Amino acid sequence: MENSIPLPTRDWPKLEKGWVWLCGAGPGDPGLLTLHALNGLKQANVIVYDALVQNQILDWANPNAKLIFAGKRGGKPSPKQRDISLQLIELARDGKRVLRLKGGDPFVFGRGGEEAQTLVQNNIPIRIIPGISAGIGGLAYAGIPVTHRDVNQSVTFVTGHDQNGETPHSLNWPAISQGSQVLVIYMGMKHAEKIANELMLAGRSPNEPVAIVSNATTNTQTVLETTLKMLNEDITNSDLKPPAIICVGRVVLMRQVLNWQDLMNGGLPKNIDPLNRDSLTEVS
Ligand code: SAH
Repeated sequence: MENSIPLPTRDWPKLEKGWVWLCGAGPGDPGLLTLHALNGLKQANVIVYDALVQNQILDWANPNAKLIFAGKRGGKPSPKQRDISLQLIELARDGKRVLRLKGGDPFVFGRGGEEAQTLVQNNIPIRIIPGISAGIGGLAYAGIPVTHRDVNQSVTFVTGHDQNGETPHSLNWPAISQGSQVLVIYMGMKHAEKIANELMLAGRSPNEPVAIVSNATTNTQTVLETTLKMLNEDITNSDLKPPAIICVGRVVLMRQVLNWQDLMNGGLPKNIDPLNRDSLTEVS
């Protein structure tokens, strides 16, 4: 079946035999895929994809492509990173056109760097296709700008757990909390309580706004607005499930005016000046 969205005419890169394209699939909504990703999906004859890649995205794959799931399923442990890399090498050596599809951006907390390095070390030619990361695009779908001039001049992306699933001890929480006004925490649900405590201990206000965006950009996107102090209790009382992004900082307040999905459905802004700038930009 022909794809319903044709690629604009251009000299699109060819996914050659024996190559691996390491590609971001964006946070969920298939419309957030890049054209390079779509071009890869159409050409690949093997697609190795992760748990966070939505099924609808795979609908764009070449119908003859072999789809290989490389994530965690049904409580079974996920395949070891080494095994995935070895499988990619084998497929490439076998002359396949391989698309390695990962959620969000492959180089943002996605171990994309490790996979790419192993491929290069084994003389497998690669191409990297960035994607929209959940910590940026997912927040945008919740109406939260990751930077906003009145709030932050920097943003810090943090992972909520390390390789062993623990809160990362290597992180310098005082430095992180003092270093930037906005923190975007990936994989933070499990250790949300510890993280909130570390941040408050390091001086962040207990009343600081926090948003948790679960399943961002998908049909089941859910957003919880809370504060550092209430974070754990509110998560416990909700039925929020991972994957979720936690955003700490006053940019979260902008959702009161920028919750565009709600506005699109006829809702009204809760507050058109949530940061109390006191001056409305008027367009005459
Ligand atoms: N490479 C990915 C991140 C992989 S780490 C990216 O750039 O987005 C996995 C974590 O990403 C999840 O635990 C969650 O914190 C976040 N994540 C990925 N997709 C998400 C989504 N649709 N909604 C909310 N969080 C998401």
